[in-house]
Amino acid sequence: MTNPFLADSELPHLLPDFAAVRDEHYREAFELGMAEQLAEVAAITADTSAPTFENTIVPLERSGRVLDRVSTVFFTLTSSDTTDAIQELEEELAPKLAAHHDAIVLDPALFARVDAVHRAAVEGSENLDDEQRYLVERHRTEMVLAGAALDEPAKERLRELNQRISTLTTRFEKNLLNDTNELAVHITDAAELAGLAASELSAAREAAAARGLDGWLVTLVLYTGHPWLASIEVPETRARIMAASRARGTRGGEFDNRELVLKLVRARAERARLLGFRDHASVVTADETAGSPAAVAELLGRLAPAAARNAAAEREELGAVTGGPVAASDWAFAAERVRRERYDVDTAALRPWFEAERVLQDGVFYAAERLYGLRFHERTDLRGWNDEVRVFEVRDDDGVIGLYLLDLYTRDSKRGGAWMNSLVSRNELLGHETSIVTNNLNVPRPAAGEPTLLTLDEVETLFHEFGHALHGLFAHARYPSLAGTNVFRDFVEFPSQVNEMWAMWPEVLEHYARHHETGEPLDPAIAQRLRDAERFGQGFATSEYLQAALLDQAWHTLDLEQAQAVTDAAAFEAEALAAAGLADEAVPPRYATTYFAHVFSGGYDAGYYSYIWSEVLDADTVEWFRENGGLTRENGERFRRRLLQTAGTRDPLAAFRDFRGRDAAIEPLLERRGLA
Ligand SMILES: [Zn+2]
Repeated sequence: MTNPFLADSELPHLLPDFAAVRDEHYREAFELGMAEQLAEVAAITADTSAPTFENTIVPLERSGRVLDRVSTVFFTLTSSDTTDAIQELEEELAPKLAAHHDAIVLDPALFARVDAVHRAAVEGSENLDDEQRYLVERHRTEMVLAGAALDEPAKERLRELNQRISTLTTRFEKNLLNDTNELAVHITDAAELAGLAASELSAAREAAAARGLDGWLVTLVLYTGHPWLASIEVPETRARIMAASRARGTRGGEFDNRELVLKLVRARAERARLLGFRDHASVVTADETAGSPAAVAELLGRLAPAAARNAAAEREELGAVTGGPVAASDWAFAAERVRRERYDVDTAALRPWFEAERVLQDGVFYAAERLYGLRFHERTDLRGWNDEVRVFEVRDDDGVIGLYLLDLYTRDSKRGGAWMNSLVSRNELLGHETSIVTNNLNVPRPAAGEPTLLTLDEVETLFHEFGHALHGLFAHARYPSLAGTNVFRDFVEFPSQVNEMWAMWPEVLEHYARHHETGEPLDPAIAQRLRDAERFGQGFATSEYLQAALLDQAWHTLDLEQAQAVTDAAAFEAEALAAAGLADEAVPPRYATTYFAHVFSGGYDAGYYSYIWSEVLDADTVEWFRENGGLTRENGERFRRRLLQTAGTRDPLAAFRDFRGRDAAIEPLLERRGLA
């Protein structure tokens, strides 16, 4: 059998042939792929003719096909369905891939050519169109920030640091997955789980059985809280779950992340200094729409005092209901009680109206049909990376635009959280005419024969991730590195956040929210109360988020000496939160340092602020849809053509202006989060 990564897949739309992949194919394809790409780059730099867009940038864009194919599949598996063998290989490969990336972006001959093309583009001596000029700019910036302009000894140190950082981030992720699995809370007496719905209990029973245990198992989610904390009636159980969640990475032994984080932060600070920046956050934001850590600090600082005030006010309110101080583990339960009393909505009792298939077909897909004219057709003949993955063909009025793969359920082999990824991104240079996008969620699997009933939160997550999927499906670029959702990290959440608005939009909600047994629609009065209740709890939500965002900035705005001086991760964390005015025993950060995967293994380092940064654009866009009649084809078309479709081909804020008619205003965000 030949290695399936050596050629394009022959399946429809270039869907990778997951079934044909054996573990041994990965290593071989990675090695061949790296060698192939180095040879391609060597051919570019060996060219003796003067550097041009055609002889430098275009072949660079074409290079690395084998590596791209194997990476796409391999990293899909490391996230969604990993094994011991894959984890081992990932750890072994991480420094090699980092070294390979360095070999290209730090190649002095390549940089000289890219720089020359850039100069010619700026001076106008080479006639390029806007997308081509933008592409040259992006390549040059990426190389400069990677260290291409440094002398050889500095580059040598940079390579060492990159490999070190890569090894540390991979180990962080592995420790977190293992510790999260180990810390799942085992319950042997059903009374301790009183308050959970039957379907949740059976999911917990299945989770226990899957590990050969009696009783029930509460598996942890990525963030500090847990969706079940809102309904479990026994305070001791809630406290156990939260304590387990917060213990991740701090228990000593092989999965402890405390020392590892200090090493990682120091290595990043040293790398920043080599590159001529004060700190890691300065390097990162130089290549974002934010531009600098100061701009980030300004936005976060503007929101923090009001968020802390609102959280404190909520704590008082909850205390009045529970008749005592509210502990962190009791917050969600108490908040749910207040929500029930004040707004007369019981979000836990809504799940029978949120049957997963209806939410998907009659909610998520329906909104996309009304806005963009999309239609979805399940391709049961096609297979994803696991038998649980579903494959849908997506069409608009002009034909098939791509595939959408959905992996809904949680597994021990899947990392926590929810995310979107691209397997193929439409671009003209490689002749990819359609895209393949994937969504992963971590919904607990119901017992056999029972329906999957989602929480309101999971419904919104599905709409959110599908917003990323739409972005990937609509994106249309000529060059691969500008294709798909390859946009700035502090912009990439914007399209997905916007798509969340349709979850509660009256015409959409009434279409999908039907009782799974009776078919009865959700009472419109309840739906209205749900919308009214949305503002409730924003103090807590904003505060826990801002704490995580500020923590990320605090770690990554340390200069090298400061980073070397920190010896206790927990103490540093506590001081940083206190300094921001957000320290509150009852409101822990959404992610604490030792399990903050976004910034210590997920590529959001110095970038967790992005969510609220792009929410400014999101809230203003929601405002625009409201002003212009909401769920219409005309509105969808404008959003698609002026924004989603542009992919990474131009300055995203210019695309936003083009869509909105002006720069984004912050007021809709302040209003939404009750911070005005
Ligand atoms: Zn997202």
